Amino acid sequence: MLRGLIISLVLLVCFSSCKNNTSINSKAPQYVLVIHGGAGTILKKNMPAEIEKQYLAKLKEALNTGGTILKDGGTSLDAITAAIMVMENSPLFNAGKGSVLTEEGIVEMDASIMDGKTSLAGAVAGVHTIKNPILAAKAVMENTAHVLLTGLGADNFAFTQGLNVEDSSYFITERRLKSFQKAKSKNKIKKHGTVGAVALDKYGNLAAGTSTGGMTYKMKGRVGDSPLIGAGTYADNNTCAVSATGHGEYFIRNVVAYDISALMKYKDMHLNDAANYVINEKLKNIGGDGGIIAVDKDGEYTTTFNTPGMYRGVITSDGIVDVKIYSETEY
Ligand code: ASP
Repeated sequence: MLRGLIISLVLLVCFSSCKNNTSINSKAPQYVLVIHGGAGTILKKNMPAEIEKQYLAKLKEALNTGGTILKDGGTSLDAITAAIMVMENSPLFNAGKGSVLTEEGIVEMDASIMDGKTSLAGAVAGVHTIKNPILAAKAVMENTAHVLLTGLGADNFAFTQGLNVEDSSYFITERRLKSFQKAKSKNKIKKHGTVGAVALDKYGNLAAGTSTGGMTYKMKGRVGDSPLIGAGTYADNNTCAVSATGHGEYFIRNVVAYDISALMKYKDMHLNDAANYVINEKLKNIGGDGGIIAVDKDGEYTTTFNTPGMYRGVITSDGIVDVKIYSETEY
């Protein structure tokens, strides 16, 4: 009888482990793209229906642009770059056109990108003229021996790379001018969103990118988390790809994007648990507002935030196309 019991147990263990393997493989999507357009006090009751429609349509456009690249066998790096460019070119988001203004009433934009396959990374900070800062970050990664270029040096580099440049009138919108004037009258820095994307491609490669105008009425020369590898952006094929948005100083001090990857690597944590711990416990307890999007090497993804809302979306090879703005409970 004991023998029979042992045989049944062995069969049960074998059956369940075989079943798990099969179901993990068959469930893993071929590709995944997750995007965000910034986190903050975004409440449905304050959102005009027409503006909400515009945000949802632009998020969908960014997803479809990057998703098509992944579907056609393109790389995660190209997909996230294309998705971020759609949002940089839209005045709705705080990146590229529509970036917020510094205390001097000018734009100073930051962006970064990281390749999970090679661990190579590129970034620009405090740029004024580059139409698509994410392209400049990519060029730093691909065409220089450096990781981060700042200010005039970064603007000049982008120009020599043949990237499109614009004068300040292109970036500054009426809406951002108004919030600058309001912040100036109150002498108060305001948090204001960012755009980002993470992806897993058909070849198992992860990539992450982030682009921002930073915070309204920030000091001249202030650099946030978005162009800092490990803080606002991180990708490692062995763990996950992460892009962050929120109060940059907290994200820098807590090395948020790398922390999530490190919890997976050294503590064997699941992506969702690692993201939840960092955003909803560690950061929340010290008043660090914001969120992240992330995808792991198996195609599992998360959008985790401790603010009332985060513009976000996901597209996968399984046919999921989903865009959201408010907290899950408000939906
Ligand atoms: N993280 C950005 C910064 O601090 C701003 C944001 O995402 O809201 O520059």
